[in-house]
Amino acid sequence: MNVVLRKAEQPGDPWIPAGTWEPITRADGSCSAMVGCGECGKNQNLTGHTITADGSVTPSLQCSFPPCPWHVYVKLEGWEL
Ligand SMILES: [Zn+2]
Repeated sequence: MNVVLRKAEQPGDPWIPAGTWEPITRADGSCSAMVGCGECGKNQNLTGHTITADGSVTPSLQCSFPPCPWHVYVKLEGWEL
């Protein structure tokens, strides 16, 4: 399944709403994102993933909190490097 995640409306909010994302910075200064799972709503980072210039995330994103079944191909709406 392909899913487009909206950018969170309140950047800096400690809890990212389900189905949205927020930019974060890795320890090395590169850009990544935190997302709110579209199924269970739990937050997880994409630091182990690659995000292309158009916001497509590879490989597919699987929720880190079993038994949540959320496993999708994600695109981050509004992503800019
Ligand atoms: Zn989940």
